[in-house]
Amino acid sequence: MCEFCVKHGEGKRWYLQAKNYSDDLLSDVRRQRFIEEFLSNPEALARETRRIDRLKKAPKFIRSLVTRIITQRMKKVHFGQVVPIEEIEQIFGFVNSIVRVACICRHISIGKEKRYCYGISMAPNGGRLAEIIGGLDKSFLNGPYAAGFETLTKHEAISAFHTHEQEGLCHSVWTFHTPFIGGICNCDRSDCLAMRSTVTHAIPVMFRAEYVAKVDPEECAGCKECMRICQFGAVTYSASNKKAVIDQVWCYGCGVCRSVCKKNAIRLEDRINVPGAANFW
Ligand code: SF4
Ligand code: SF4
Repeated sequence: MCEFCVKHGEGKRWYLQAKNYSDDLLSDVRRQRFIEEFLSNPEALARETRRIDRLKKAPKFIRSLVTRIITQRMKKVHFGQVVPIEEIEQIFGFVNSIVRVACICRHISIGKEKRYCYGISMAPNGGRLAEIIGGLDKSFLNGPYAAGFETLTKHEAISAFHTHEQEGLCHSVWTFHTPFIGGICNCDRSDCLAMRSTVTHAIPVMFRAEYVAKVDPEECAGCKECMRICQFGAVTYSASNKKAVIDQVWCYGCGVCRSVCKKNAIRLEDRINVPGAANFW
């Protein structure tokens, strides 16, 4: 299990612990301020992204020092983890409020409003989280949805996530001043700044999932659909066997490849039981 499960989950999946979504944690004023600033100041995130992009030209020792500093800071304030859709459904099962908001990453990276981010809370009607989001000046989001956020039922949210999965998006939970979890996102490697930082620039701001995927060669028909959809380049193709093969060291355990496999040939295994991947976060 990842270090957050040990620190914030009492040895269980930390993002399945209802206490980490509790409104009580949001009584912390620093945490409230962080959420307000994060959501209303996309320029700060854009600046940080430009800094990370520039780092690739820095000498190796500077790069590695800055990487450690960024990762440690992010673990305290805003860190994520990839979560497969079954566990997203479990989270939607116990939270009391789900709101959909425009994605700040897409706003910065492609200049478009994409509703891929979800605010979640254990408090009825969203509690303080809804108050904070609702009270923000959304004029920075000039798109068609700038007027506000949508409240979704559990059923609507689950159905939207299945659609996101078909689009190839990888689900992730996010802290706002750890361990409070306030959001679930749907990420892709080109537009999601956290995925770009973690996967493209090797500056981790999110953990891999608690799982890794494996192909059953008996079932695989070699259609390569899983290769097409994997955001992490974890799937290769054996031309001699005409089967897909997942490199479990590269696999982030998102499980999205399963959604396009018509042969039902891919399953997730607990990362902890897979030698070679167990300590890769
Ligand atoms: S999608 Fe399924 S059947 Fe197609 S290559 Fe991948 S594992 Fe094999
Ligand atoms: S191979 Fe791994 S990383 Fe790629 S889509 Fe499947 S579960 Fe996700």
